[in-house]
Amino acid sequence: MKTGAVLFDMGGVLLDFQGTAGVPRGRLDWRGREALLRFLNLRRAGLTEEDLERVLFGPWRHEYDRRQALGREADWGPHCKRVRKLAGRGLRTPTKTLLSIWFRPLAEQIEPLPGVPEVLEQLRDRGCRMAIISNVPLPGALYARILGRCGLAPYFDRMYFSYEEGHRKPSPAMVRKALSDLGTPSTDAVMVGDRRSIDIVAGRAAGVRTIWLRTEDGGGPAADVTIDSIAELLDHV
Ligand SMILES: [Mg+2]
Repeated sequence: MKTGAVLFDMGGVLLDFQGTAGVPRGRLDWRGREALLRFLNLRRAGLTEEDLERVLFGPWRHEYDRRQALGREADWGPHCKRVRKLAGRGLRTPTKTLLSIWFRPLAEQIEPLPGVPEVLEQLRDRGCRMAIISNVPLPGALYARILGRCGLAPYFDRMYFSYEEGHRKPSPAMVRKALSDLGTPSTDAVMVGDRRSIDIVAGRAAGVRTIWLRTEDGGGPAADVTIDSIAELLDHV
C-alpha cells in the first residue's frame, strides 16, 4: 500500500499527555500557578492565588467547558490582558510567555509514546508526507516546542493546532486544510487518531481513510482500520 500523506492526531497517538488533555491538572496545575505567581510577583505585581483564579483561570475555564459547543478553543488573550492590567507597572509579558510558565511543569513530563520515533522514521523513509492535526487548549507553539525537544518535529511537513486554526475536530476543517497545503488528494491520505468521536469523524468528513488507535474513547463511528499499537500503522499505509 502506498499512502501519500499521514495525518496524525497528537495527544494519545504521538505524545503521552498523561490523561491531562494537554492542559495542566491537579498537582501540575498547582505547581504551574505557583511559578506564574512567582514570576509576576518578582515584577512586583502583588497578586494572590485568588486573583489568578478570579481574572485568569476561572473565566478561561468557563469558556473552555463550552469548547465543544463553540467548536473552537477558549481564547486566553482577554484573560491574560486582565492579569497584565491588574499587575500594573507596565507589565508587558506576552500571553504565550505567561501561559508557558503555567504549562511548564506538565510540558516537562510529556514524552513520545513508545514506538513513535521508529514509526515516523520508517514513514519518512517510505516518502510519506506527515502532518499533525491536533485539538489543543493552549497556543500550538507550546506543543511544537515539546515535539522539538523530543526530536519529533523534523518529521512533520505541517502542524495544525486548533487554538490558532479556529476550528476543533470533529470539524474536518483542519484535515481539509492539510490536504490542500500538502497537495495530497483525500483518496491518498489517512487520518490516525485515538478518539473516534473526534479524529475518525473529522477524517471521514474530509473523505480520507481513517485509522483508529484503540483506546477507551467512549465510542464513535467505526474507522476503516483499527490498530492496537502505533507500530501496526506501518502495515496499513
Ligand atoms: Mg488524541
